Amino acid sequence: LFARPWRFLTSVADIRQLPDIGSLEIAFAGRSNVGKSSLINALTGQKALARTSNTPGRTQMLNFFGAEGAAVTIVDMPGYGYAEAPKGMVDAWTDLIFAYLRGRPTLRRVFLLIDSRHGLKSNDLEAMQLLDKAAVVYQVVLTKADKIKPGQLDRLVVDTAKALAKRPAAHPEILVTSSEKNTGIDSLRAAIAVLVNG
Ligand code: GDP
Repeated sequence: LFARPWRFLTSVADIRQLPDIGSLEIAFAGRSNVGKSSLINALTGQKALARTSNTPGRTQMLNFFGAEGAAVTIVDMPGYGYAEAPKGMVDAWTDLIFAYLRGRPTLRRVFLLIDSRHGLKSNDLEAMQLLDKAAVVYQVVLTKADKIKPGQLDRLVVDTAKALAKRPAAHPEILVTSSEKNTGIDSLRAAIAVLVNG
């Protein structure tokens, strides 16, 4: 699946512009700067598929990626949690995301990226609330695992699992990744393969 060349398909800022459903979808969500672009690039083995270190404004869209013959489309969701984001922008984000989550029956799972250094923040909990409300299964992916000590990482996984146990739509298994060190990427690929083939 990930040995193919992946390419950018389209960007959507308005729910009415969603592309026709051609395959299953998986989506990636997280706070801005969580390492989402880096993870999508590592996953697809492409250096610049998703743009890294985007600036606010350019990122308020759903970005679709596909590969010839692949049974799944990857959706890069706009990052959330810019401190300086005006309320109107946050509301627009929430409206677009909720409409997408509710109106996309082929969406199999959202991978919710959490920065290992920060753990779950209040806006991550808000995102989880939105996903629970939309009844879309989400799986937490800890990013930048190379940035913290193994002991801290173990504690973070335990704490995060505890928080997830209370959430109706959360998938219990947590993935630990580092795009920098290319760790956990195979586990992520395996999780996606199970969704696509199983
Ligand atoms: P996005 O805004 O969520 O798309 O985040 P980016 O992928 O642009 O990454 C934000 C910053 O974190 C960049 O400076 C990346 O180089 C850095 N980064 C991303 N993934 C990792 C990782 O696994 N380890 C480390 N140490 N840094 C990372």
